[in-house]
Amino acid sequence: SLRMRDIASQIHPQTNLAAHETVGPTIMARGEGAYVYDDDGKQYIEGMSGLWCAALGMSEKRLVDAATRQLNTLPYYQNFAHRATEPAIELSERLLKIAPVPMSKVLFQSSGSEANDTAVKLAWYYFHAQGKPEKKKIIARNRGYHGTSIGSASITGLPHLHREFNLPLPGFLHVTCPHFYREGRPGETEEDFSTRLAEELDALILAEGPDTVAAFFAEPAMGTGGVVIPPKTYFEKIQKVLKEHDVLLVADEVITGFGRTGAWWGSQTFGLEPDMITCAKALTAAYMPLSAVLLSERLYAGMKAQSEKIGVFGHGYTYGAHPVACAVGVEALRIYEEDGIIDGVAALGERMAEGMMPLADHPLVGEVRGVGLMWGVEIVRDKRTREAFPAEMQFGIGIQNRAFENGLVCRSLGTAIAFAPPLISTPEQIDAVVSRFRDALDKSL
Ligand code: PLP
Repeated sequence: SLRMRDIASQIHPQTNLAAHETVGPTIMARGEGAYVYDDDGKQYIEGMSGLWCAALGMSEKRLVDAATRQLNTLPYYQNFAHRATEPAIELSERLLKIAPVPMSKVLFQSSGSEANDTAVKLAWYYFHAQGKPEKKKIIARNRGYHGTSIGSASITGLPHLHREFNLPLPGFLHVTCPHFYREGRPGETEEDFSTRLAEELDALILAEGPDTVAAFFAEPAMGTGGVVIPPKTYFEKIQKVLKEHDVLLVADEVITGFGRTGAWWGSQTFGLEPDMITCAKALTAAYMPLSAVLLSERLYAGMKAQSEKIGVFGHGYTYGAHPVACAVGVEALRIYEEDGIIDGVAALGERMAEGMMPLADHPLVGEVRGVGLMWGVEIVRDKRTREAFPAEMQFGIGIQNRAFENGLVCRSLGTAIAFAPPLISTPEQIDAVVSRFRDALDKSL
């Protein structure tokens, strides 16, 4: 069977390898709108858009046509050293036009991990150009997720992605996660909490030496860390500290870019003014792998001066700016614009909030939080003390599996369960996400 062939032949990422040999895979065979179907024909609502990425669902013909047209015209060309293709040019122009703050240039890769690695290297390259080669350290947050390449995993703040890999690399530091429910102290307001975290960042930069710190990476709202919505005044206070010490802000919009939070960018929803933006996933609605770094004129001007000095900007990937991926990206951005998808998220987000918030009364739920179409439900053993179930019980995985039996894909992430339905979901599908999940929670009591 396909299952046996899978077990015999594949390693799956972010998977318990031994468990996979007994559990085996569910094989997804086809998709339609917000639904996917397994090879037995069972239907599921794809309540995670795959991995937060298939924003336009599973059967957007315009994206298929855009890819086909480009495959028939020029299936590949490189973007190195004075070569370019029209789809890459058009996509860069469109990205610069919709950027949340003035941005000057775009550099393409294929994955979110590569985009974040690239942003680290751009920060290093820039400070070299400024005559500050020692300004290299990178600060990010615990629970932040930025990828799994050696560089981006070092930015990531999740211990299970570090242990056994000798990560993070030296010079990658982490500060407290802005998770008010888990990290706030008794009696502390959200504003107090944000002040404390900004002071912590300031103290760390001063202790390390501001001349040694290059950049701070942050998801405007954290996804994989358990859908963590920044507490009030957080980014305002953090950005003040960064500016004081000339530390660049990199907004990792890999999940939050292109409508997920109800605006084009999470930076707009949460008031970030980044020096660089990394994005991927919904950039092509996941029909092709593609990521991008957007950077400010200040950074570009510095880099240009340096590349003149040393002859070349020594970075890039074979598949960066892949023309088929860029053609799909152009079409995806057209669809977001022409079909009013982003405004639609604001409305669907309200519908989702109406359904999700009442789950807070459930005996297993400590907190419900979200924005637009990204939501997290914090699962607790004791609502009063906020005690979580011990990790080895895999309680969240149990809930996730019961939801799956009910025909709903959601994702257990640490102590929370996450939801990120496609942006083209219908209101009825959003309601079904909530009701199927509530049923799974009831069965888990
Ligand atoms: N950044 C964020 C916020 C992500 O959620 C992810 C992936 O989930 C990444 C970066 C890494 O992207 P990729 O898996 O494409 O390397």
